[in-house]
Amino acid sequence: MSGEDGETFAFQAEINQLLSLIINTFYSNKEIFLRELISNSSDALDKIRFEGLTDKTKLEAEPELFIHIIPDKTNNTLTIIDSGLGMTKADLVNNLGTIARSGTKAFMEALSAGADISMIGQFGVGFYSAYLVADKVVVTTKHNDDEQYIWESQAGGTFTVKRDDSGDIKRGTKMVLHLKEDQLEYLEEKRVKDLVKKHSEFISYPISLWTEKTTEKEVSDDEAEEEDSKKDGAEDEEGKIEEIDDKPKEKKTKKVKEVSHEWNLMNKQKPIWMRNPEEITKDEYAAFYKSLTNDWEEHLSVKHFAVEGNLEFKSVLFTPKRAPFDMFDNKKKANSIKLYVRRVFIMDNCEDLMPEYLNFVKGIVDSEDLPLNISREMLQQNKILKVMKKNLVKKCLEMFNEIAENKDDFAKFYEAFGKNLKLGIHEDSQNRAKLAELLRYNSTKSGDELTSLKDYVTRMKENQKDIYYITGESKMAVENSPFLEKLKKRGLEVLFMVDPIDEYAVQQLKEYDGKKLVCCTKEGLELEDSEEEKKKKEEVKAQFEPLCRLMKDILGDKVEKVIVSDRIVDSPCCLVTGEYGWSANMERIMKAQALRDNSMSSYMSSKKTLELNPDNSIVKELRKRSDADKSDMTVKDLSLLLFETSLLTSGFSLDEPNTFGGRIHRMIKLGLAIDDDLDGLSLEEDGDDMPALEEDVDEGSRMEEVD
Ligand code: ADP
Repeated sequence: MSGEDGETFAFQAEINQLLSLIINTFYSNKEIFLRELISNSSDALDKIRFEGLTDKTKLEAEPELFIHIIPDKTNNTLTIIDSGLGMTKADLVNNLGTIARSGTKAFMEALSAGADISMIGQFGVGFYSAYLVADKVVVTTKHNDDEQYIWESQAGGTFTVKRDDSGDIKRGTKMVLHLKEDQLEYLEEKRVKDLVKKHSEFISYPISLWTEKTTEKEVSDDEAEEEDSKKDGAEDEEGKIEEIDDKPKEKKTKKVKEVSHEWNLMNKQKPIWMRNPEEITKDEYAAFYKSLTNDWEEHLSVKHFAVEGNLEFKSVLFTPKRAPFDMFDNKKKANSIKLYVRRVFIMDNCEDLMPEYLNFVKGIVDSEDLPLNISREMLQQNKILKVMKKNLVKKCLEMFNEIAENKDDFAKFYEAFGKNLKLGIHEDSQNRAKLAELLRYNSTKSGDELTSLKDYVTRMKENQKDIYYITGESKMAVENSPFLEKLKKRGLEVLFMVDPIDEYAVQQLKEYDGKKLVCCTKEGLELEDSEEEKKKKEEVKAQFEPLCRLMKDILGDKVEKVIVSDRIVDSPCCLVTGEYGWSANMERIMKAQALRDNSMSSYMSSKKTLELNPDNSIVKELRKRSDADKSDMTVKDLSLLLFETSLLTSGFSLDEPNTFGGRIHRMIKLGLAIDDDLDGLSLEEDGDDMPALEEDVDEGSRMEEVD
């Protein structure tokens, strides 16, 4: 159809459907329309800027690149103007109504499946969001290659396009939204300013708001007098009032309303990541960090970089000073990296940009390669994103290494995020070696300081092959562990791993710098011996062989085997776990987990080896007695007691503390020479409670008879 009002076109069927949906469905999140239109303007500006790169004349008609927003309360319109590429008549017809995009249908499907209206831009139909707040939209546009045209529609199935001879646009597009009665809030200066700040703060073109300024002036007839009062006012507000009060009648004043307009630039800063890092002050980074995170403290460290080549993106990453209180909350999956595509904000919880263990790192990434209309689903399979992630992790590790250059800062960092690094060791096999460089532990030689694995290696003994560590509940608990005796005596350093996550991390780490990490509470601890020592050991082993066998018989399933120890010096014995099974500490951790899988624990925790110290006087005496009489009941009792004590000193817990307590009480009575029968008579209540050393023992085997 053609005529004075121009040509009328029918919206393509799916677009028409989409428009009905936008107009007739209730959405609470209408404000996103402004972001979409600004984003379109920014795109159009990107395009002309790009064309201008190769052909300067393209910019001649309007050299300035800008976005203007004009709220008009008289006509209830909100106008968005850009000096971007503009549209030819054909563009208008095709882009704004007749050519369906694949996203149209997909978006409607997504909406009916519960997607939010705010995702509209990701489906490439953002323009139509104007109808969330407007019942009529008028688009006036001028492309370098065509005349100025006007597109107009009140939805309802059709739009019109006509030539416009007014020539008021040099190049670009003007969108006039005739706001619905109930959407007039978008004419309020503050509302618009807040929206721009919220959604479009980092658009790289200046966005200016046409603001109205109403000033009420008191104008007197006498110009000279007015000048005087102005001066006074400038000096002191109160003084001015007094003066007026003093001689009110001398001044013939009248109130005059003055309305003026001015452009108010809303995105003052060029996005920080687009600037040269050398020109950005620490305060500027801090301000940006705070606005990004709502943190009240500034960041601990920042990494600002650009990746160029096949893939292009810029990024600013921050390490905070503190860990968030909910860092390991499983429900909180949100990532802390904001994704931009060519300065347009895309999403702030893109899970695929950072591995979970780095979820404490905050920042932004601005990609030059991703399409603007990318959806979350598309992102998941996106190759570009995978490469970006890899780069981001690399840069995070660089940032941590930079923190490590300052001891105090790194101590703070390690205190807050050491657990994350260990989680990284567990999960990120590719960066395991690099993460290992950042680990710090107390050790038998580090005193109050923490030591790195690297420093440990520099202190290793000449023929030391392995790195030794012990796991446990606390530094206090492991420091004097019997397991450390021999190692200490030989001057071998042992790392204290007292964080529950250490158990998991060290199982993945396995080695550092080609040196095996050896747990000194497990089997497989082999210390270098001279030939002579070896020979002596063999002899001792043979001597103690019968005692070992006897004790295994006595302890039954409680232990896997009983052997002569190579790791203890003072204590009579200790309990060792299998090289690949759980350590005592791990058993403790697993027992503490409410929802643990019991089948796993019986499999992992059952293999304990009792190691005897052949130089210990108790063990020596036991051997003597058992050699003399295999059925000596004292040996049986003491074996059980030694086993239970070893459980405790080796970091395990007692399954039956009462039985153990009973045995100890009997020992105390023995020490105090109290007759058990007498005791029973005088203190009836607990006399009979006292358990026998072993449930089924007869009178003859009681402790009393040891002497
Ligand atoms: P998208 O911007 O995701 O492609 P839209 O529905 O928002 O989808 O816009 C459709 C098309 O209309 C755009 O691709 C662009 O070609 C054109 N367009 C929209 N707004 C403008 C504008 N301000 N300047 C120039 N072209 C525009």
